[in-house]
Amino acid sequence: MTAEPGGPEDRLRRFATIWSRAVYPVTSTSLTRPELEERLLPLARQLSEALRARTFDPGTAKGIGAALIEAHCTDPESLSRTLDCVDAYLVLYCGDPDAPADVQEAQRTRSSRLQHAMAAGFAQELRERTLAEQEAISQAALTAQSEVAQALHSSEARFRAVFEGAAIGIGIADLDGNVLQVNGALLRMFGGSENLVRGRNVAEWTHPDDAPQVWRLYDELVRGERDHYHVEKAFYRPDGTVLWTNLTVSLLRDADGRPQYQLALMEDTTERRLLNLRLRYEATHDALTGLPNRTLFFERLEKALAAGEGQRFGLCYLDLDGFKTINDSLGHAAGDRLLVEVADRLQSCATAPGEMVARLGGDEFVALTTGSDTERGVDELAGRIMNALVTPISVDGRELTVRGSIGIVEGPVGERGSAEVLRSADITMYRAKSAGGNRFELADPEADARTITRHGLTTALPMALNRGEFFIEYQPLVHLGDGTVHGAEALVRWLHPQHGVLGPDRFIPLAERTGLIVPLGRWVLEEAVRQARAWQEKQARTGPLRINVNLSPCQLTHPGLVSDTVDILEQAGLEPDALCLEVTESALIGADDDLLKPLRRLAEMGVDIALDDFGTGYSNLANLRRLPVRILKLDRSFTQSMQQYPADPVDLKIVEGIVSLAHSLDLAVTVEGVETGAQAEQLRILGCDTAQGWYYARPGPPERLHDLALVDATG
Ligand code: C2E
Ligand code: MG
Ligand code: MG
Repeated sequence: MTAEPGGPEDRLRRFATIWSRAVYPVTSTSLTRPELEERLLPLARQLSEALRARTFDPGTAKGIGAALIEAHCTDPESLSRTLDCVDAYLVLYCGDPDAPADVQEAQRTRSSRLQHAMAAGFAQELRERTLAEQEAISQAALTAQSEVAQALHSSEARFRAVFEGAAIGIGIADLDGNVLQVNGALLRMFGGSENLVRGRNVAEWTHPDDAPQVWRLYDELVRGERDHYHVEKAFYRPDGTVLWTNLTVSLLRDADGRPQYQLALMEDTTERRLLNLRLRYEATHDALTGLPNRTLFFERLEKALAAGEGQRFGLCYLDLDGFKTINDSLGHAAGDRLLVEVADRLQSCATAPGEMVARLGGDEFVALTTGSDTERGVDELAGRIMNALVTPISVDGRELTVRGSIGIVEGPVGERGSAEVLRSADITMYRAKSAGGNRFELADPEADARTITRHGLTTALPMALNRGEFFIEYQPLVHLGDGTVHGAEALVRWLHPQHGVLGPDRFIPLAERTGLIVPLGRWVLEEAVRQARAWQEKQARTGPLRINVNLSPCQLTHPGLVSDTVDILEQAGLEPDALCLEVTESALIGADDDLLKPLRRLAEMGVDIALDDFGTGYSNLANLRRLPVRILKLDRSFTQSMQQYPADPVDLKIVEGIVSLAHSLDLAVTVEGVETGAQAEQLRILGCDTAQGWYYARPGPPERLHDLALVDATG
């Protein structure tokens, strides 16, 4: 269609241009203004045609109003501008300017009616459109909602499944601590009764073992200051038992981030904890007696020694006297029962707060007391312990007398370390033992400094033999009948470079423990046999002197015993019957044939075997028949009981009984520890054959014995 300038088509386009310029600024269309103009041009044409139509139908204008909406001129302002534009320019550009006045007036009327219709169409379309949009939105919203619900449902279902099926306890509470939901696992942890858990308040679950931070973390969480925390926590179950848990509590917030609930996840660790406690118990307690062991004792001692100013500690270090004998003679099972009973008694001595008893090993126990007044307390403790041991202990129907030696260390904390304290206690205990046992001694720092520890001795022992630090003293054995020297016992000593002469009680047990006793024992045997041969040569006229040498149990089981002994005798040129090997009673009681075989071989060769320390080992006299023994050496304790005058008639009867039994078994009886003439006389009357003791001579160098023997022989 060509637009002839000034022609109707040109005018229509100019109307459309004005219209588009009017509304374009208020549309929300993506069209450019010329594009909008192209959209409006057909509408302008419809308006123009309606204006000039033979029959007027304003209804077409309704469609034009609706079309505006479709062209995204939805803003009410665009309608207002459209109406203004139509009012001002429609008749002017699209009417008939040459028409008579009444026609022009009619066209103006038509224009305003068209404007009304357009407005109506615009409004209707807009409403419909809005409704449709709303519908679409709400439809979309509904769809979305149901999708969300679906998702929520499935997540809820998933949550439910996890919640109910979880092995871990799950609980939800509000921020005031009211328990809202708990799962089955949590209920089971608490003993299964729902109403005892649900509806309760979290704050009711305090427990004395709660760590200090437990409730601080809780407060921070419910105040929204933290999102989770993890603690180990104990709960009381409704039945009063304790539930231990690994507890994780998380804060649940709503969509806007406001704290809403707390979620607790708890894992039952009661069993694991019990197991740990049991493992810890086993690691810190002695399996036999149930007492705290060395590990726990050191823990406590170290804690005590690290206590604050003004605090003191007292330590009793107890070693049973002669326990080895009991163990050896009655067997380990009986020894164990005895230790259990001793442990029970000790335990009852240290029941006050700050007191403890522990077993360090073997027959060594410690009792510890702490506080501000341990000076008095530790003496009382030692007294209680000595008292507790007074009553004999019944084991397998035998009444065993148990005695102990105690070393006491007492002092202010913070001055010494645990090792030093224990060393001092150990040294002091040894002092009590050397003073005869069955007593307690108080640590003396000066004495400590002079004394050597067992540890120090043990490490020095091997070198000592190589360096020739051992020597032998001899103690004569005397015929009770005529007082002649019948032989001598070899007693080993250690000339320690720092500590002077040490008696065998100090180092023989250590040598036994380290195995050094075998070479040491062989050296003693060699030396003593050589010495005996030397005496014989000097004293050929008075017959052979016999030599007694002590054997340790370890030497008995050593395979070289017989061959070594034979070699030594042969090398020295000493007859086997000039040698007597002393074996302690406890080493032989219960010995099987294998153990006795080497002794039998030696006995068959003519070597005498003496049963040393007889009477201390609770042995069965009837057993003696089995042993390849020729001599009984009655322990010192029998002699000691004869020190008073008149001697206890019961003791006399016992010795008399032993002597007559020994003689009936063809055994000679030697008595040890004869210190007075009265004892010697008494023992002679009782029928003892030979004697040994300070009354005759203390152990001494070989020359002394030689002189003694000569005096005897000549005098
Ligand atoms: P034992 O064989 O019973 O030795 C006797 C102990 O009694 C010796 O102690 C001796 O000095 C002591 N004694 C002697 N007469 C009297 C007295 O009248 N009164 C008192 N109170 N005591 C007296 P010692 O020399 O201390 O020896 C202790 C133990 O050491 C010995 O007891 C023995 O079992 C062991 N022993 C000594 N030398 C050796 C050795 O070379 N090898 C082994 N395996 N053990 C040895
Ligand atoms: Mg002996
Ligand atoms: Mg003895």
